[in-house]
Amino acid sequence: MEAGKGSSDLEQEVLSQGLCTSCGACVNICPYIKVVKDKVAVIEPCGLTEGKCYGFCPRTPIDIAALDRSVFGKTRSDYSLGPYISIEMAQAKDSEIRCRAQYGGVVSALMKYALETGEISNAVLTKPFDSAMMPKSVLVEESSQLQECAGSNYIASATLAKLNEAAKQNKVSIGLVGIPCQVLALRKMQASKHETSARGVKLVIGLFCTWALSYKGFYEFLKGKVDPSLIKRIDIPPPPANIMVLETAAGDIRFSLDEVRKFIKLTCSVCYDMTSEFADISVGMVEGIEDWNTLIVRTPAGKRFIDKAKKAGVINTRPLEQTRLGHLKEASSLKKKRAVDAIRKRTNDKSNLLYLRLSAQEKKKYL
Ligand SMILES: Cc1cc2nc3c(=O)[nH]c(=O)nc-3n(C[C@H](O)[C@H](O)[C@H](O)COP(=O)(O)OP(=O)(O)OC[C@H]3O[C@@H](n4cnc5c(N)ncnc54)[C@H](O)[C@@H]3O)c2cc1C
Ligand code: SF4
Ligand code: SF4
Repeated sequence: MEAGKGSSDLEQEVLSQGLCTSCGACVNICPYIKVVKDKVAVIEPCGLTEGKCYGFCPRTPIDIAALDRSVFGKTRSDYSLGPYISIEMAQAKDSEIRCRAQYGGVVSALMKYALETGEISNAVLTKPFDSAMMPKSVLVEESSQLQECAGSNYIASATLAKLNEAAKQNKVSIGLVGIPCQVLALRKMQASKHETSARGVKLVIGLFCTWALSYKGFYEFLKGKVDPSLIKRIDIPPPPANIMVLETAAGDIRFSLDEVRKFIKLTCSVCYDMTSEFADISVGMVEGIEDWNTLIVRTPAGKRFIDKAKKAGVINTRPLEQTRLGHLKEASSLKKKRAVDAIRKRTNDKSNLLYLRLSAQEKKKYL
């Protein structure tokens, strides 16, 4: 954490610059920062010159090598995907879970298994849709509650605000599912010198993410197409489809992704992480195979848990072909390159990469 920075610096360097990811890490830790839908605001200056809010934020300085050491005990050798132990394809064995899930149901199946076997006693997840299409973070204690969290909403959600709330209830042994900016903030919380709810998180499942949408504009746009309360699932088929599909009780509605891109959050253009590089386990889609996931195991704790889940028959796995692995690395590297280019365009200074502190090897590859 940078010494001597507080909420006014957060306002100046992050919020007023359009760099807030709406992760929620700064929400519910003090009375002066609030979130409404996906809009986070400092409602009054607190006057402190050093704050958790600044330290936890995924858009304040982050030294990738230092965070690698903190999470993995060593620095990365793969500069596309970050540290990992194995990568394969996976699918929930339970067909009912697969049916409700976004793709192969691996996230839902693993969380269910973790709760039922006592690996964790609570889980901070995101219920993708309310009647106004806004994702809502929830604290789940029973595996039966997982059903309502299946599926993806591509609107950003302040998921970590719920984690901060859970700490006030003295919750420990927590599992968390989040997108890369949320996982990054969580790891900054865990690495910080401050007392934080993140210390109780024992299992981190990160989702892949290329971008997320701002609520206001996208909701208005959807209202022009359909009653948003009828939407059951949103899908973005892999390229070159370039479409978004809304599944509703009255049938599917398709439109070009070009119509949606204007609602992508500005901060996503400077995001350096596609695959939740600091998670224990990362999960995404498999291009062209709808009911399977890509599964990246990153930490020894993640590996122990996945080995146990495989043995218990919770997930099926099979090798990820080299061509698919190549595409994944290429997509992740492209996102990093785009982020570094967008940051350089903003600062007009090669030595000022805003929040990113890159190793010499990463600078060589992406700068
Ligand atoms: C904003 C966003 C962008 C994504 N972009 C990509 C991408 O570019 N490429 C890719 O391969 N995959 C992407 N994903 C991940 C993908 O949509 C699936 O979540 C992932 O493959 C897991 O599939 P599953 O069948 O195991 O999920 P499920 O078993 O259905 O579980 C889905 C999980 O997602 C969580 N969730 C839903 N909405 C949100 C949200 N708004 N914020 C945080 N968590 C949420 C739920 O809590 C649930 O635990 C994205 C997900 C999100 C939320
Ligand atoms: S901590 Fe998260 S919610 Fe708060 S300002 Fe930073 S990105 Fe936004
Ligand atoms: S692209 Fe990055 S900043 Fe944007 S929502 Fe995804 S993880 Fe967060």
